[in-house]
Amino acid sequence: MNLGKERWQNYVDGQWRDPASRDWIPIEDPATAERVFSAPRGQKEDIDEAVDAARRAIDSRALYEMAPHDRMLLLLRIAAELRKMVDEIAPVITAENGKSISLARDEVEDAARYFEYYAGLTGKLHGRQIPLGEGFLDYTQLVPIGVIGVIIPWNFPLELAGRDIAPALACGNAVVVKSPELCPVSLCFLAIACERAGLPKGYFNVVCGYGNEAGESLASHSGIDQIVFTGSVETGRRIAANAAKSLIPCVLELGGKGAGVVYADADLDAVAHSAGIGIFIYGGQVCSAGSRLIVHRSIEKALTEKLVAWVGKRTMGPGSEDHFFTPLISRGQRDKAEKFCASAIEAGGNAVIGGRHPEKLKGYYLEPTIIADVAPDAPIAQKEVFGPVLTMLTFDSPEEALHIANGTDYGLTAGVYTKDLKLAHWTADRLQAGSVYVNKWYAGGMEAPFGGFKKSGFGRVKSVDALSHYYQVRNVAIRL
Ligand code: NAD
Repeated sequence: MNLGKERWQNYVDGQWRDPASRDWIPIEDPATAERVFSAPRGQKEDIDEAVDAARRAIDSRALYEMAPHDRMLLLLRIAAELRKMVDEIAPVITAENGKSISLARDEVEDAARYFEYYAGLTGKLHGRQIPLGEGFLDYTQLVPIGVIGVIIPWNFPLELAGRDIAPALACGNAVVVKSPELCPVSLCFLAIACERAGLPKGYFNVVCGYGNEAGESLASHSGIDQIVFTGSVETGRRIAANAAKSLIPCVLELGGKGAGVVYADADLDAVAHSAGIGIFIYGGQVCSAGSRLIVHRSIEKALTEKLVAWVGKRTMGPGSEDHFFTPLISRGQRDKAEKFCASAIEAGGNAVIGGRHPEKLKGYYLEPTIIADVAPDAPIAQKEVFGPVLTMLTFDSPEEALHIANGTDYGLTAGVYTKDLKLAHWTADRLQAGSVYVNKWYAGGMEAPFGGFKKSGFGRVKSVDALSHYYQVRNVAIRL
């Protein structure tokens, strides 16, 4: 497969630049454990340059003063440029990130759609005229926040960048992105798309580097006006502390421990498919994954059998061959997930299937795993494993199901499976999660808001709701 060039650069102020360190991060293909790319090890100096470039862009007022229709066309061109490159980008995503080529193509498509969705909103962003009585004219304006620092995790880098950057540009902000050090290259294609679409220079900058170097420099930079972070709870806590020091707002999109409640009347074939996709797609390395299935005791055996059969119909292997079960992102991630399984089994859990890495495959694979007979407070039922590991728990009453579902620190996603709409609504209304899926895990889209309750973060991405994080309101009161 042709992966294009091996060594990539940062994109700052409309130029491709080597990192000041002249140091490069090796990027591995998780399916082979071999180096496929080198990415810049950006540090403070590179972040400083990028923030300065973004500030100059904001000061130029180029996007702010652009007619909304033209800003819409600009975002549509970025989407079109991304789509034109799908045959180039998708193999790169698969090589650096491990996911199947079909999912990689979907990721390019989803990123393009974010730009289209927010393109359609540029002309609908406007303030209000507020009556203040005779002799006054009062109106509000929605003005860009300024320079936005965006920090992206490795699981869906291009899609998540589309999710954050499209609304930022739609509102006229400039962006500095710190790409994930495990798979940064797809974001370089977003820079290419922005350049080809004619985005004025300085509005989109991307610096690759480690979290404790480039990431920390960006999150604590005095020149940024807001931080939008997607990643783990642990890093989110650090980001929030840094943001507090600079007194800037932050949007935190963090981890989850999604629970699907399955009532006895649910269509078990449909549940097996939905729950299978919910945990096993992209090896469960999804913040909104359904990693716990809370099943009515009377149907546990039947549903488990259906899930095992569902898994058995899918193959494991490299993403480049479009297998369903692809490798995890890194050795560290795979070992961490495997350790969760081993500890659960040691504590008496029943590995219905999986629990280990396959000996025959070279990359960072973990067998699709279903673990039953664990306590709701066991680590595997409480912590984010971020692997293809489903924990099955049972309940006897709806109240007990809710107690288990809501019994973690997380609150990102949850689900309910039943034919009884009243019971579905009763349950959805009591699940402590920012997104609740009824009868289909991952139902929703970029048109619907997404974000966490509890430790899963704050702020909302996707939908019109996200826009409120990208503009600030100015009131202008005039004595006539
Ligand atoms: P992570 O927190 O380790 O890293 C995320 C990003 O933060 C990376 O770019 C990393 O380099 C950077 N970073 C690390 N330390 C930093 C620091 N001190 N200062 C600034 N930046 C720093 O997370 P990860 O392992 O890359 O991603 C997986 C996590 O992301 C999971 O918890 C997952 O649930 C979460 N996630 C959440 C969403 C969502 O929308 N809620 C989406 C995708 C992933």
